Amino acid sequence: MTKINKIVASGFKSFAKWTEFPFSGDYNVVLGPNGSGKSNLLDALCFVLGRTSSKSMRAEKLAHLIYNGGKSKKPASKAQVSVYFDNASKIFQRDEPEIKITRAVKQNGQGVYRINDERCTRQQVLDLMSLAKIDPDGHNIILQGDIV
Ligand code: ATP
Ligand code: MG
Repeated sequence: MTKINKIVASGFKSFAKWTEFPFSGDYNVVLGPNGSGKSNLLDALCFVLGRTSSKSMRAEKLAHLIYNGGKSKKPASKAQVSVYFDNASKIFQRDEPEIKITRAVKQNGQGVYRINDERCTRQQVLDLMSLAKIDPDGHNIILQGDIV
């Protein structure tokens, strides 16, 4: 088994600045008023896991995932999200106690993936995640509107 220890987002959608979401080992709930960014947090998770369809993350194209500055602030130059997965059980077949997956996208749409800060391909992220049966398009992630 694994679990998400932490998600860190910066320049992603409404998370303009470095924003950390620590998760406990128990059941976690994200609460907030309409428009406060709850679904954006799930979009951030899907982004890191390697979803290719920006529309499924509610953006016309990948660059639209970048913080747009709202009405009066400067847009971010890139969107970056890291998800820290617990690896105490060595489910990811690596020695590190935690696996950090990072994905970033720039204004020109170019992106990079990293596993524990080392550059890698999307396929390498997918292969690593599949060891824990995590699939970016899997049915274990139920997005708003998927079920009515
Ligand atoms: P609800 O309870 O209605 O489902 P929510 O908490 O899920 O709300 P989100 O959909 O996560 O809310 O957040 C919507 C907000 O994110 C809107 O205010 C929107 O302007 C903002 N937002 C979306 N994309 C960007 C972007 N690229 N840059 C800045 N803000 C963005
Ligand atoms: Mg929502």
